[in-house]
Amino acid sequence: MALPARRRSLQVKIGSVAIGGDAPIVVQSMTNTDTADVAGTAEQVLALARAGSELVRITVNTAEAAAAVPRIRERLERANVSVPLVGDFHFNGHKLLREEPACAEALAKLRINPGNVGRGAKRDTQFADMIEVAARHAKPVRIGVNWGSLDQDLLTRLMDENSARTEPWDTMDVVREAIVVSALESAARAVELGLPADHIVLSAKVSGVQDLISIYRNLARRCDYPLHLGLTEAGMGSKGIVASSAAMGVLLQEGIGDTIRVSLTPEPNGDRTREVVVAQELLQTMGFRAFTPLVVACPGCGRTTSTYFQELAQTIQSHLRERMISWRGEYVGVENLSVAVMGCVVNGPGESKHANIGISLPGTGERPVAPVYEDGEKTVTLKGERIAEEFTELLEAYVARRYERRGETP
Ligand code: SF4
Repeated sequence: MALPARRRSLQVKIGSVAIGGDAPIVVQSMTNTDTADVAGTAEQVLALARAGSELVRITVNTAEAAAAVPRIRERLERANVSVPLVGDFHFNGHKLLREEPACAEALAKLRINPGNVGRGAKRDTQFADMIEVAARHAKPVRIGVNWGSLDQDLLTRLMDENSARTEPWDTMDVVREAIVVSALESAARAVELGLPADHIVLSAKVSGVQDLISIYRNLARRCDYPLHLGLTEAGMGSKGIVASSAAMGVLLQEGIGDTIRVSLTPEPNGDRTREVVVAQELLQTMGFRAFTPLVVACPGCGRTTSTYFQELAQTIQSHLRERMISWRGEYVGVENLSVAVMGCVVNGPGESKHANIGISLPGTGERPVAPVYEDGEKTVTLKGERIAEEFTELLEAYVARRYERRGETP
């Protein structure tokens, strides 16, 4: 089935990563460490990059954080990780960038929030200072509007213009318009100041699903800049995942969005890399990109008497994620592998036949055997205590047989 075409004519290069144009949709993430903590931040960037984040954003909020950026970059290089770093600047970005030129040099992109660069005349000069640094170092910029920090002068101007209308808009319509206008006017100003148009990415984040859809449709119609998509303050756990997927899913299906971030609030001591996995799964389940083989598993029902098949599905999915770290470098196309783990014969054999490799476990009252299907054909029937281990071995053998090894001539 054809995927929706994306329509951005501009493409921005961030290190080796391209955003916009016909480039694949890029997954990005953000650290939550204190950037001044060089070791802790480098470690989290490494974890995010190894999970598949193609860009990683770090907060640059103090002189110590700005000074830490080149040292974080060095640590990443020593670990052989070249993931581009994006610096997130608010309020004092102009000062930090001026006083710590090595910070700008070590970053691959700057994120500037036009609502947080100062007010009145200061806003214009401080914004200009940051754009001047970006242009001098040839660094792309994301102009990232957020409705929690919307430019109040701009909002007041649009509210005043609205009151002069014969039929004034609803207040929320004016706020949504102000978010879009803030992004567009800031981008126009950056171009006037000398930043090339193909060095600009836009985002306009809000926390409501319908607001986000409406704002990005509007933004996509009115410019050609690549768009960074994300629902801000999406929340924790399933709520954050559902809200982000609902909002971004609609927009991606309309061809809107060139890079995505899923802004999940981690559980206390939770794993920050979850936002990367969710972003990848969103793109993969929609068919835009393939990152890791996915397990198709049935939800289970009264026909399954134990949690055995749930555990098997989880074991196989974890095994696939772990093995992908080396498989990616060894086999061509292995990320497209599909695996089915099913709970009984009702849908088990059918679903297993559609996967590259699948297993149908015995349900209640069924013979305690588990047929395995490879490329649509039943190849073996497993039974006994070692079904999980034997299925994993079959999976390994299937990958080695089915996928071409990198560097080998066919
Ligand atoms: S495949 Fe079997 S166990 Fe799984 S949900 Fe369907 S009927 Fe239930």
